[in-house]
Amino acid sequence: MSVVLLLSLGVHVAALVLSLVVLWRLKDWRIAIFSAMISLMILHEGLLVAGSATLLPPVWTLDRHEVTELAIGVLALISVYVFGRMMEKKIRDRKVVEDARSRLAAIFDTAVSAIITSDESGVIEDFNPTAERMFGYSRDECLGRNVSQLMPEPYRSAHDEVIARYLVTGDKKIIGVGREIIAQRKDGSEFPIHLGLSEVKLPDRTIFTAMIDDMSARKEAESRIANLQDELIHVARLSAMGELSSALAHELNQPLTAISNYAQTARRLLEQKAGKKNVKAATELLVKASDQALRAGEIIRRLRKFIVWGESERTLESVPDLVEEATKLALVGSSAKTIRFQMEAAANVPMAQVDRIQIQQVIQNLVRNAADALENWDGEKSIVVHIEGKSAGEVAISVRDTGPGLAKNVRDHLFEPFVTTKENGMGIGLSVCRNIVEAHGGRITGESDAKGGACFCVTLPVKQAGAKAAE
Ligand code: ADP
Repeated sequence: MSVVLLLSLGVHVAALVLSLVVLWRLKDWRIAIFSAMISLMILHEGLLVAGSATLLPPVWTLDRHEVTELAIGVLALISVYVFGRMMEKKIRDRKVVEDARSRLAAIFDTAVSAIITSDESGVIEDFNPTAERMFGYSRDECLGRNVSQLMPEPYRSAHDEVIARYLVTGDKKIIGVGREIIAQRKDGSEFPIHLGLSEVKLPDRTIFTAMIDDMSARKEAESRIANLQDELIHVARLSAMGELSSALAHELNQPLTAISNYAQTARRLLEQKAGKKNVKAATELLVKASDQALRAGEIIRRLRKFIVWGESERTLESVPDLVEEATKLALVGSSAKTIRFQMEAAANVPMAQVDRIQIQQVIQNLVRNAADALENWDGEKSIVVHIEGKSAGEVAISVRDTGPGLAKNVRDHLFEPFVTTKENGMGIGLSVCRNIVEAHGGRITGESDAKGGACFCVTLPVKQAGAKAAE
């Protein structure tokens, strides 16, 4: 067999093997067929060379034509190899991109949050299945429309304005900031959402991605908790009422007895002799009687205000005034008589936006706890309520007593419900206090004082929690 034939066959077998390798490595039959065709062409050329060659001629006897054919075969083999490598790289790159794309598509399709992508002017480019379920629109219905259609007024106009401002000035006010707004479903119903908007810079343009979570369930739970909290506050008020009512009966007894005494004396004076002097004295007594009647009325009014159900209504209040009123009510009762009570209000106390009745409930609870702690205490019996303004737009109210301080077993769980050291205590007072204070955006702390006794401190923001300046 001629050397050329042997070489030629070798080249073609190698080309075929290479095609198979290409097929196996790239798993792409189009490229494999292409390489196989090149191989066959080379084989055909090789056979021609072999046919024209004499058997076993020495290599140096090859004519020009045979050498050219052989060179073409080798070149073709190299080209198949280089071509295969290039295609392999290209296909691998394409697979990486396809992999990333399908992973991204899987995340997009299965995300728990609704994902909506839009171009710079807010035109929707993609809408995932969660968004379809959340808003009730199909993807096709939404593509090409503006995202603002998914919001009711005034959010719709505000969104259009933000986008318009962004297009003109590049001001990205809402980008990267999560916020809660109201969205609108296809059927027109509205629901609360949490919207997180991010900006994605592509080589040729920018797109926006909105991640949206439906907050309806959470809001519902929050409102249920708020209702429960209201009920708890009401129950606590009623339980406090039970204890207070006997003390109030006692308190009311005083003005009522005084009224009756003044009225009787005045009647007697007028019965004796209706002279000018007696009329004057009787009039003075009647004025006193009417003052006492007003005082009794005030006590009843305060009591009614204390127990009546009410919406949490926050008004601008003078903290020293509301604290004073609350402590008066809290200290009604015989045990309080032996206690030295002092109220200190700094000059810098600002007005605060609070629910008057609820904050009074907190102060009453703290003062009554302090009075309870002092009831069977042999040492000094004093309560000091101190109010001052803090530089951070807050007002701090502290209630300090000289009693035994906090018992070890309740110290770490003070604000948890049903924690009590009292025989008839319910242990919900402080937990209700904490709920109220936190609902106002404030804090409450309680600790044993270094000098003995306990100190509770309530810090409230001056502005109503959540009240932000309108954008
Ligand atoms: P209750 O008054 O029904 O026990 P609270 O939640 O108001 O419920 O109080 C929980 C517990 O905290 C009290 O039982 C008491 O042990 C402790 N405590 C509260 N205030 C004081 C205080 N000023 N001094 C000592 N202990 C206190």
